[in-house]
Amino acid sequence: MEKSIKSYLKHSAKDFISRSVNPPVVRASTILFKTMQELRKHQKDIAKKKDVDHWDYGRQGTQTTVQLQRLLRKMEGAYQVFLTPTGFSAVALSIMSLCRPGDEIVISDGVYRPTQKLTDELLKEFNVKTIWYNPNSFLDLKSKITKKTKLIYVENPGSNTFEMQDLGKVISLAKRKKIYTAIDNTWATAYFFKPLKLGFDISITSATKYYSGHSDVMGGTVAVNKKVYKKVWWYNHVSGYRLSPDDAYLIIRGLRTLDLRMDKHQENTKKIINFLRNQKKVHKILYPYKTSSKEYKLWKKYYSGASGLVSIIIKSKSRNSVYRFVNNLELFGIGYSWGGFESLAVYTDPIELGRRPYFKLNKNEHLVRLHIGLEDPKDLINDLKKSLKFVK
Ligand SMILES: *Cc1c(COP(=O)(O)O)cnc(C)c1O
Repeated sequence: MEKSIKSYLKHSAKDFISRSVNPPVVRASTILFKTMQELRKHQKDIAKKKDVDHWDYGRQGTQTTVQLQRLLRKMEGAYQVFLTPTGFSAVALSIMSLCRPGDEIVISDGVYRPTQKLTDELLKEFNVKTIWYNPNSFLDLKSKITKKTKLIYVENPGSNTFEMQDLGKVISLAKRKKIYTAIDNTWATAYFFKPLKLGFDISITSATKYYSGHSDVMGGTVAVNKKVYKKVWWYNHVSGYRLSPDDAYLIIRGLRTLDLRMDKHQENTKKIINFLRNQKKVHKILYPYKTSSKEYKLWKKYYSGASGLVSIIIKSKSRNSVYRFVNNLELFGIGYSWGGFESLAVYTDPIELGRRPYFKLNKNEHLVRLHIGLEDPKDLINDLKKSLKFVK
């Protein structure tokens, strides 16, 4: 019987020895074998990469992490999903697995800031060249491809500024030119969009965000197709990434309610945007919501839903008054990360934070990123209404 993703998320591990609904947390470095012959067989199988679920040492996982991998494989439609200690190490694992000296990476402007640093600063030292393209222009991407391009790396929508790309076109281009593709899919998660099904080789998620859902765990996932499996397996094997079974347990627990939370984040965010779009002090909303916009159409083409992360642009001569808006919010915490049950707000200057050749803020424009949580949207709207009065 083919189960829906919702059923998979709710499904307990029936084949599990513990007989509890949820898998036990198995903490292990040493994995015991009955005989020397059995141990040797496992080693050989792992070396041949025959069975994706084999492990002979705690760094490769335990029964707990394997349960999470199974759940994510179903959700992503992946050949295998590698688990990493943070979302960013999932980004690093993906890029480092595929790129070698002399290669070029073509990467969309607007990716997560540490991803920019990894490519621009670290990989440069290893003679891997990073070429940035305008996420609003497919032609620009096309013009940046050379014989040396090994990987097209996409984040969609872009962190903070929410550019939407025509992902199908990116995939066709890459396939024609035999270039690998990876996408950071943290914003939508595999619940709203399944990159591997569209043709991406790698789909990355920071499990710290919506998968865990409670702002108390860090983790990352790298879902791969068969084509890149061996390369990612090998780099993972020699770099030593491992997600702890305790964190894997909490991520599994978070996934049980992923569908309910994502649907609610989406619903709340729609209501907040309907309020914000009528506020004079809110100059622009960066989110695929305007049905006539290119962003909306591209989002609709590939995604079955939208999450709770949105940016607003406020026009004001006084940056301090925008700070006061943020400081006076009572239901929005001030801080980084997102994807938990709670609302957050943070003033962000994307240009100050890093190189953004294709994004510009005009004079007196300020960007505030909001994460819309699971609180009562009426309360959130009242909070925003009250605090927007501080913008001068
Ligand atoms: C947060 C985030 C990451 C990194 O995840 P961590 O778990 O914080 O390391 C990567 N990409 C995107 C888009 C993110 O928002």
